[in-house]
Amino acid sequence: MEREVTEYEMVAAVEPFVTVARPVAVAADVVIGGRDVVVMAGPCSVESYEQTRAVAAAVAGVGGRVLRGGAFKPRTSPYSFQGLGREGLEILRAVADEFGLLVISEVLGVEHLPLVAEYADILQIGSRNMQHYPLLWAVGELDRPVLLKRGFMSTVDEWLKAADHILSRGNEQIILCERGIRTFETATRNTLDVNAIALARQIAPYPVVADPSHATGRADLVLPAARAAVAAGADGLLVEFHPDPATALSDGEQALPLEALPRFYDQVGRVAGALGRGLGRRTPL
Ligand code: PEP
Ligand code: MN
Repeated sequence: MEREVTEYEMVAAVEPFVTVARPVAVAADVVIGGRDVVVMAGPCSVESYEQTRAVAAAVAGVGGRVLRGGAFKPRTSPYSFQGLGREGLEILRAVADEFGLLVISEVLGVEHLPLVAEYADILQIGSRNMQHYPLLWAVGELDRPVLLKRGFMSTVDEWLKAADHILSRGNEQIILCERGIRTFETATRNTLDVNAIALARQIAPYPVVADPSHATGRADLVLPAARAAVAAGADGLLVEFHPDPATALSDGEQALPLEALPRFYDQVGRVAGALGRGLGRRTPL
């Protein structure tokens, strides 16, 4: 079948494996890299059924389509909460199904891949794993969307080459995610590289989303950073929300409360609208 060559594909691309059409369809009506900016919202970590269900209900309540949540957590300290593992995935899937949401969750190691792939619609590769080549090859063997976070110490070129490692094994369903890089600035957790969002969208054949939560590390900066990312051309957002950020087991300081969801969608929707895009929201439940 003849495939339509997108405008995107005509741009000189990174290197050898650039043969793919750009949008990644997570479901028939949820396409990342299409007209709509896709918001993926949820807790940093799945902590309990009640906590995750509350977030899922709130996300569905604003017409959201994708629920995020970590079951296997890459924590800087081995003494921090490491995630609920399989139980976390079971919770995530159960509440997502209840509210008709799709699931994105991190796969931390090759050994976890079969398990995470049982439950998640999008496989998230974390910043610390961007150059974990055996993991990239393993997800590259699957027929499943993969969201590849940029390493916080990685250049755009390294990030795109990491994506090509996935592509080299046959999986073309790649979504890039700019999640902030480490700079000399310590006032914020990381620095959102807005340049990289615009640049990657021009030179790579993959959709690009942004994570304003890890990029800023501060709840009060998440919305402005999200607006900036969408203005720069981001095809989606990965954002942390929690029913009670003060008691979160991970990343509470950057989590937005559920009450902030309507305004968040409204505000990023306005920026998307200025660019002729929507948020692909479902009629709220
Ligand atoms: C996360 O999304 O929960 C996460 C751990 O992000 P990162 O890999 O960007 O630190
Ligand atoms: Mn987090």
